[in-house]
Amino acid sequence: MTAERGGFAALDSCVHCGFCLQACPTFLATGDEADGPRGRIELMRGLERGTLTAHDPTVTTHLDRCLGCRGCEPVCPSGVGYGQGLEAARERLAAARGVSPLTRAALAVLTTAGPGRMVYALARALRATGLPALLAGWSRPRFALGMLAATKPQGGKGRQGAATGGGAPGRPLPPTAALLFRGCVMDGLFSHVHDATVRTLAVNGYAAAEVPGQVCCGALHAHAGLTEEAHALARANIAAFGDGDAPIVVNSAGCGAQLKAYGSRAFAARVRDVTELLATAGPRPGAALKGRVAYDPPCHLLHAQRIADPPFRVLAAIPDLEVVTLADAAQCCGGAGMYTLVEPRLSRAVLAPKIETLRAAAPDLVATGNPGCVMQIGAGLRAAGLAIPAVHPVELLDASYRRAGFYA
Ligand code: SF4
Ligand code: SF4
Repeated sequence: MTAERGGFAALDSCVHCGFCLQACPTFLATGDEADGPRGRIELMRGLERGTLTAHDPTVTTHLDRCLGCRGCEPVCPSGVGYGQGLEAARERLAAARGVSPLTRAALAVLTTAGPGRMVYALARALRATGLPALLAGWSRPRFALGMLAATKPQGGKGRQGAATGGGAPGRPLPPTAALLFRGCVMDGLFSHVHDATVRTLAVNGYAAAEVPGQVCCGALHAHAGLTEEAHALARANIAAFGDGDAPIVVNSAGCGAQLKAYGSRAFAARVRDVTELLATAGPRPGAALKGRVAYDPPCHLLHAQRIADPPFRVLAAIPDLEVVTLADAAQCCGGAGMYTLVEPRLSRAVLAPKIETLRAAAPDLVATGNPGCVMQIGAGLRAAGLAIPAVHPVELLDASYRRAGFYA
């Protein structure tokens, strides 16, 4: 029975208490019960029972408006598996009404190797002109340009160099093998974060190796209801990473959450966010960096993977860096994969309070460990006229290690 019902069964424990409402960014933005978890659970139950159809505009509107941020899960006293239920509902919606041409096009462009290579190369070329940063703003096309501008390495170019690694003073042991998960958006637009990941891991005794044959994690497909395609990508990744026991290191919270949700428990048990791995026995302190950084936890790190402390431990390894935690930091930024493209109005409404909090706090930087969050928050800050770059936490640790002389 449960197997037939799939993820819908995870909704059964909902007792309608409403504790989740204030943790839901879309409910806070619209004030509509149907835009909150409790209302959506009723819609999903109706969809499962057949009392509501996949073509009912109430169902489609309010389920499409869900960010999938899972901010409703940790606050639920009944342990409702909202994310599993949503995935089952979205699979049913996608089977009944198909997937929009915009979503299909974005998936093809962002997550498949051939078209992706070309599009990411063009995007990097456009980014290098500096025009996206100049033209960034709130309209749909200008926000997209701001997102692209936010992917630019903040530390400048030509900063490669090998870490002295496990052989650094005081750490004579041979390095531990780890396998780098590259992803698609991360690899196309954030290769500097991959470089920083490899270098900072090396300083902490890990040798991160490349894994041929790996593919997109499938998170964007699963969120769109394309479960079969997501499963096919999962099978390809499980085959590519093999059945050894080396940790699989991920620096994108969305990818990490998806990889940990693969059906293979042995595979999922090996997946580690880069901050998790760095915090296992450290990380080693670097040189001082002066400034104030606001840490913004990605939903798929904090809510989906329940990783709260390791990013703070990474930032705490940087002397003199002041880490500020903002009141609404745990609220979704509104990026949510392709949500920012397909639901732009509500996405910006969810982002707005975070930008205002950042305006008031005026940090020098925002640190967040997910490409979508870097792009969404970075674009919002730029559109709001705030010169506050958004970076991945390992970029800051990397800069600190460089200053400390850890790199050849
Ligand atoms: S999902 Fe959890 S917190 Fe929300 S109404 Fe149901 S039982 Fe209460
Ligand atoms: S996943 Fe996020 S947007 Fe969706 S109901 Fe839960 S808290 Fe609200």
